[in-house]
Parts: sequence; structure tokens; C-alpha cells
Amino acid sequence: MPVVLHTPETMQQQAAQWRRQGLRIGCVPTMGYLHEGHTSLIELAARHAEQVVVTIFVNPTQFGANEDLDRYPRDLEGDLAKCAAHGATAVFLPQAGDMYAPDASTWVNETTLSNGLCGQNRPGHFRGVTTIVCKLFWTVLPDVAVFGEKDAQQLRVIERMVRDLNIPVEIIRGPIVREADGLAMSSRNAYLSTENRQRALALSRALHAAQSAFAQGERCAETLARQVRSLIAAGVDLVDYVEVVDDATLVPVAGRISRPVLIAVAARLGETRLIDNVVLAP
Ligand code: AMP
Repeated sequence: MPVVLHTPETMQQQAAQWRRQGLRIGCVPTMGYLHEGHTSLIELAARHAEQVVVTIFVNPTQFGANEDLDRYPRDLEGDLAKCAAHGATAVFLPQAGDMYAPDASTWVNETTLSNGLCGQNRPGHFRGVTTIVCKLFWTVLPDVAVFGEKDAQQLRVIERMVRDLNIPVEIIRGPIVREADGLAMSSRNAYLSTENRQRALALSRALHAAQSAFAQGERCAETLARQVRSLIAAGVDLVDYVEVVDDATLVPVAGRISRPVLIAVAARLGETRLIDNVVLAP
């Protein structure tokens, strides 16, 4: 079983000891309720580092007032078993009170990539993400950290933060892991009723249709966006956004696609908000 560390201080001491021993540290930040998307990242980290730390922390600062912080799913026992089975050597499991002083007043704020897509509907979300990831990096002292392409905007925001703040951590991208029928794995899928689980397929199917159209030569950003939007709208309760953006800058693309684009989507089924994406490269 991996060693479980509960406080930032004990985690830092363990990490410092590994570093003195010349061991490379890999970090996989998560909010728990682990699935095969997460375990694929743990395995990826284990290919780059001798010590693999999975952090499990439902970070309150990245949740909005009306979001699902209080009901976010948890399964600590199951998570520890999955960490062990997939090569984690340590699990960092802090309490919110140990990560944030009650009068904490310092934030990490990425100010460009964070603004669009999920940033529009979730004000303050990426400030919470960049702040906690920066804090986790100072606690786990990793050489490499692995993030999933499922959260495409988050991944790019973290890469930008690491570049801009000269953080000596290599960011590794892990591909999206999907259920057999195409639904992107997510801890939030646990919220879906049987009916909504079926309707949720609209997201991955719409993106798959866009991928096929693109492969057959469709290069108009608006046409692709319109197709994706109408396929998703038919299945979900509310489309938060469907956007075709530059893969690197996340700036919306208009007209002919001549460079890699990210098609990013967010939609709601009942109370559940799901996201998915695909990258299309000419
Ligand atoms: P979360 O626990 O949802 O905060 O996710 C923790 C990490 O796992 C993030 O880097 C996510 O991008 C990644 N992740 C979540 N779902 C998937 C998936 N289906 N495939 C690949 N990575 C994922």
C-alpha cells in the first residue's frame, strides 16, 4: 500500500528526503473518486518517476457558490486500492484547513487562457486551480506532474503558469480515457441517472462526428461548431458552450481552419455539468 501523508509538512519532509536520495518524484493531482482516467495518469507518472504521489483533495477554492462541492463523490478506500494497484507510492490527503489558512490572501492568477470557455461560466474557478496546483507543487516537490487532456483548458492554464512562473516541473499530458461507448470518464458521471447517462453520449458523439467531418475535409470552424452544437443540444438540458478555439491560445477560430484547433464543449444534464473536447489538426 502507498504511504499516506496528511499534512503539507509531512509531505514536504518526505519529498525532500526522496530528493536527497536522488529519486525522481511524479505528481498526479486529483479530487478523488478515481476512475480509469486517473489511473492512466498514475501509470504515466510511474514511467517518469520512481516516487509517484497521487494527491486527493476536493479543493474548495475552485468551486463556485452554487456548484457541487458539498456533494462531490468520495470513496477513500477504493481510491487507495486503485492508487496501490496502478503504481502510486504515496497519497497526499490533506484537509482543507491544512491547505488554506483562514485568512489566506495570496492567489495565483493566470489572466489570459483562463478567461474563455469554462472561465466564463465558472468565475474564479481557474484561480482556485492554479493556486492549489502551485501549492501542491511546493508540497510534493515533483519533477514531473501529469494532467489529463479531458480538462483541456486546465491543462493549458497550468502549462502557462509553469512557464510564466519558472516552476521547475515538467507537465505531461495524459490522453482522454473513455467508456466503451465513448463517454469521457469523469467522477461526475456518478451523478447521472440511467437516462441521463445515455443522453450524455451526445457530447462524445457530437465531437466524434466533427472529427469525421474534419477527416473528410470540412475546414469551416462555424460549420463544425454548428454541427456539434445541434447534436449536443438534442441530447442535453443546456449547452454551456461549444467553441472552436486555437489549440495553443484558446482564441476562437473563425473561418477556415489552418492550424490545430480544440473543439471544447460543456453541457448540463439536470444538475450535472459535463465537459469534453477533441483536438483537430490539419
Ligand atoms: P479530477 O479528479 O476530475 O480533478 O481530475 C484529476 C486529473 O485527472 C486531471 O488532470 C484530469 O484532467 C484527469 N482526468 C479526469 N478524467 C479523465 C479522463 N477521462 N481521461 C484522462 N484524464 C482524466
